[in-house]
Amino acid sequence: MIRQKSFENEKPTLFLVPTPIGNLSEMTPRAIEVLNSVDVIACEDTRTSGQLLKHFDIRKRLIAYQNFNEEASAAGIINLLSQGQNVALISDAGYPLINDPGQKVVMEAAAKGFNVVPLSGPNAMLNGLVASGLIAQPFIFVGFLPQGNGERNRKLAEYKNYPMTLVFYEAPHRIEKMMKSVLEIFGDRRCCIARELTKVHEEFLRGTVSELIPELEGLKGEMVVIVEGNRDDYSKDVDSDLIIRMVRESVELGMTTSDAVRDAAKKTGISRNVIYRIVHQCDN
Ligand code: SAM
Repeated sequence: MIRQKSFENEKPTLFLVPTPIGNLSEMTPRAIEVLNSVDVIACEDTRTSGQLLKHFDIRKRLIAYQNFNEEASAAGIINLLSQGQNVALISDAGYPLINDPGQKVVMEAAAKGFNVVPLSGPNAMLNGLVASGLIAQPFIFVGFLPQGNGERNRKLAEYKNYPMTLVFYEAPHRIEKMMKSVLEIFGDRRCCIARELTKVHEEFLRGTVSELIPELEGLKGEMVVIVEGNRDDYSKDVDSDLIIRMVRESVELGMTTSDAVRDAAKKTGISRNVIYRIVHQCDN
């Protein structure tokens, strides 16, 4: 067990600092303050981040943190923290770790007892989700789907029965193929494409998948795709054994049955009534 009181110890800190996804006014005062305070800034691309830092007149030592070289990148940052240096991790845009590098170093820094401190700030997934007009909670963030048709369809099939809203990232040159896969595997659900968020050409396309597909040709820019979850009666596809196990384990840990059912409903997105029915059937 490691307990981190972020601002009540002298340990070196790894700060996770989000940066704008378009509109530079979304760089927060705290992000600028933290970047100015650390010893080293780790980034994806020193040229891209160099320009951002120059804009805000932040002069710090920059090192590269790369996903394709995560082992060595993480080891380098852990080494700096071990020497007592504070490090900020940024990505090209938005939140580090969210379809961007950083997972390994955060896991290692946390496991070694260094402070890992997140700042609030820009993230494309959340902007897209909350403005989509679809149910915002619960949701699943998938990120990018595999590029090959077969693999993409297989991945979508895994999510087909989930009742939660699904959030994807997609590149403009693949959006048409992706949406055709969504139609094929999920059927004609409601969805939203949120494009160029926070930028001057920000746009939302809201409708059913089949309504949006004809609009996709030539659509450019960065995109978040938000798709409605499965609204069918989920009970017929529910993994009853898993539900029963979840409820039993929570009860064994001291929860009341009704709290355990509420907790399982929250975690799975399945209605409390359905869970009650499953648990009740199991008891009889
Ligand atoms: N770390 C970033 C975040 O927190 O959102 C995501 C980085 S990921 C490599 C880049 C993808 O995020 C883009 O291909 C696009 O799907 C999405 N994205 C980033 N900025 C965006 C924007 N301004 N509008 C819409 N989508 C955006």
